[in-house]
Amino acid sequence: MTSWFAPGRINLIGEHTDYNDGFVLPMALPMGCATTLSPATDGWSVVSVQEPGEVRVRRSGLSGRDDTPDWATYVLGALWLLHDDGVEVPPLRIEVDSDVPSGAGLSSSAALVCSVVCALDERLGLDLGPAGLLALSRRVENDAVGAPTGGMDQLASLRGEEGHALFCDMRDLTSQSVPFDPGASGLALLVADTRAPHRHADGEYAARRRGCEEAARQLDVPALRDVGADDLDAALARLDDDELRRYVRHVVTEDARVLEAVDLLRDGRLADLGPVLSASHASMRDDFRITVPEVDTAVEALLGAGALGARMTGGGFGGCVIALVAEGEVDAAGDAVRGAFSDAGFGEPELFTASAAPGAHAVEG
Ligand code: ADP
Ligand code: MG
Repeated sequence: MTSWFAPGRINLIGEHTDYNDGFVLPMALPMGCATTLSPATDGWSVVSVQEPGEVRVRRSGLSGRDDTPDWATYVLGALWLLHDDGVEVPPLRIEVDSDVPSGAGLSSSAALVCSVVCALDERLGLDLGPAGLLALSRRVENDAVGAPTGGMDQLASLRGEEGHALFCDMRDLTSQSVPFDPGASGLALLVADTRAPHRHADGEYAARRRGCEEAARQLDVPALRDVGADDLDAALARLDDDELRRYVRHVVTEDARVLEAVDLLRDGRLADLGPVLSASHASMRDDFRITVPEVDTAVEALLGAGALGARMTGGGFGGCVIALVAEGEVDAAGDAVRGAFSDAGFGEPELFTASAAPGAHAVEG
């Protein structure tokens, strides 16, 4: 039986630039979600290996969506939207199985949604194409689930390429693959999942977003992407609020760092990426103020253990840290993070290395 696999992702650099119409550089992870569809006779049912029970929807039920458990809206959302669009959706049994840790900032949600959307696209003969798959996957998270994600997660999950990062322009949602193969330079991408609980993440995210929009309004530009790095000082001088100035400085310099990272990867200068990652972390910590003690501790421990660069990845207030580390020093770097967490009284972090993997694809099994 064919199943559809879609991966989780890590953002190498470019944080909170997406909703400012800027640039991001994610890559697809080897871990992901597999969706299998089989015919059913009486309505729709959804099963997740990671959740108890089976969620059933009666044959007449694609318009009523009240008592659906949260997790199942990521799956049924696609059916609801297709139904709203006038697509005839035949009864189906939908089974999902994912090894992306949930809520860790590795986008288990996009892995789930994209694998379901790709499976439905094939099964129903929708022929959505790259732009249509992206649009439907985004609508499931934005409209059905109600999560204000900007599209990067779905872009990476759908379009990632093995051995490559995906340079995305979030203004027009176009993407280009850029070589990213740390192993070829004797390096590894080490991921530390801090498992820090996301504290006030939704409210803080909304506040940053509002602040960026307000700054763009005061600067009279469509989005902060339109403030060039060369114009940063002049732009800062026009703002009278220190908080807005810090937000603008983060977003404008972060966009510039993404472009710098892309140039370095295209030139095969992987080691030189390290300081750019660390500068991104400092900007998130000092200007955008979205880090928490766990992620700062992990970054310091990694740099102290000789990492070439390290930064928090994801929206902030918890989640994962990534580091570029010499292949022979991965174990020592991991031990340094575990030791620092133990000293600080934090919970046990989860460490693993990641390579850039292919985006969504069918798997014969
Ligand atoms: P992230 O995408 O960073 O992992 P989100 O909060 O965006 O965090 O998405 C996590 C949510 O996605 C989970 O709480 C759950 O509702 C849903 N989810 C992800 N993977 C699965 C799965 N395998 N089975 C059921 N629900 C899942
Ligand atoms: Mg998510």
